[in-house]
Amino acid sequence: MSNSKSPETLGRIENLRQKFFKLYGHHPEGIWRAPGRVNLIGEHTDYNLGYVLPFAIDKNALVAIRRISEREPEAKQLNLASTYGHSDIPEITRVAVDQLAPGAVTGWAAYPAAVAWALNQLDNVEISGFELLVDSDVPVGSGLSSSHALEVSTIVALNDLYELGLSPTRMAQLTQQAENDFVGAPTGIMDQSASLMSKAQNALFLDCRSMQAQTVPLPLAQNDAVVLVIDTRVEHSHVDGGYAARRQSCEEASEILQVSSLREIETVAQLEAIEDPIVRRRAKHIVTENQRVLDTVKVLKVGDLQAVGKLLYQSHVSMRDDYEISCEELDVAVEASLEAGAIGARMTGGGFGGSSIALVKREQIEAVSRAVRMAFDQAGYKEPNIFTVIADEGAGRA
Ligand code: ADP
Ligand code: MG
Repeated sequence: MSNSKSPETLGRIENLRQKFFKLYGHHPEGIWRAPGRVNLIGEHTDYNLGYVLPFAIDKNALVAIRRISEREPEAKQLNLASTYGHSDIPEITRVAVDQLAPGAVTGWAAYPAAVAWALNQLDNVEISGFELLVDSDVPVGSGLSSSHALEVSTIVALNDLYELGLSPTRMAQLTQQAENDFVGAPTGIMDQSASLMSKAQNALFLDCRSMQAQTVPLPLAQNDAVVLVIDTRVEHSHVDGGYAARRQSCEEASEILQVSSLREIETVAQLEAIEDPIVRRRAKHIVTENQRVLDTVKVLKVGDLQAVGKLLYQSHVSMRDDYEISCEELDVAVEASLEAGAIGARMTGGGFGGSSIALVKREQIEAVSRAVRMAFDQAGYKEPNIFTVIADEGAGRA
């Protein structure tokens, strides 16, 4: 069941309205919601035009917006604020619309500003001044895509308010452009697609080459199973070099193999033409991961969670050994989950920190959580943040 209108969310919506009025002295024109996501499987395959299988989670960014009318002095200005890190009145970042350009806005405000900029690149669209206040409960820097929740909540709000009629696919492409060109993070199309297109209780099977999306029911409730997220609290950042370096290796591999993307490669044997063992391993992860996504969709359709679990772990091993984007904390979280009886586990998201997921029977939640906490304690790591997630509905008006 969608959790988007849980009593907690309703409380947050009301709170946001009040804070908005306190901050700006006006009521918002509306409130929109965009969820974070967990990627069940299919990691780093999106920018290789392959397959991904994420789902939106019941943690989201809520954004309240009011367009500033032409008669008001700040008509050509974006006023951007977030409740994040502020217990009382948030600070306002002010950006003149005609100064919006890649690199011109730094810090968190770059995300909503980037969306306004990307929309203004379209013919016949003129986004002018607006006041924005965001309140998000997606943990920041945990690999659950808090950054896309910000961008997606902003784009669905502006799409409605300015009556742009953009499709979810178009909005996904525009937020990607916003993030790549304006924020300067070379990310793929998965995260925003998950936030925009997911359906409650389903995963989103997305072909990143054709952008065809299919919902795949997650047979969790009938199997008494849940997805547990283990946030290692090791913060990753896409603006750092690791992600870009992996992209670079994939481009190198495609060039050597003379294909437009690694999606065109179907067997590991085809990778023998790559001499550099590192580049070959990177490409191997992409080729095998695409196959694992297809296999996961198949076994989900017959409700075989044990088989899903095996694929999750194979994916983790591939990211740990071939793509080398895991870290000690993620490996410990995955191994401890499995030892304590999880059906499957893997790191999720871009890597180098962030979160792992574990597919567990309901009655195992406590045991798995305890085992991971103990393993972290023994290794001297920070205490992880562990919680269950629900596959929720994609973005829209809250
Ligand atoms: P992830 O998307 O995995 O959480 P990123 O490093 O891609 O991690 O994005 C985190 C960044 O997104 C933060 O550093 C901040 O700039 C921005 N951000 C996310 N949520 C919020 C929020 N509620 N308020 C302000 N900024 C936010
Ligand atoms: Mg992000």
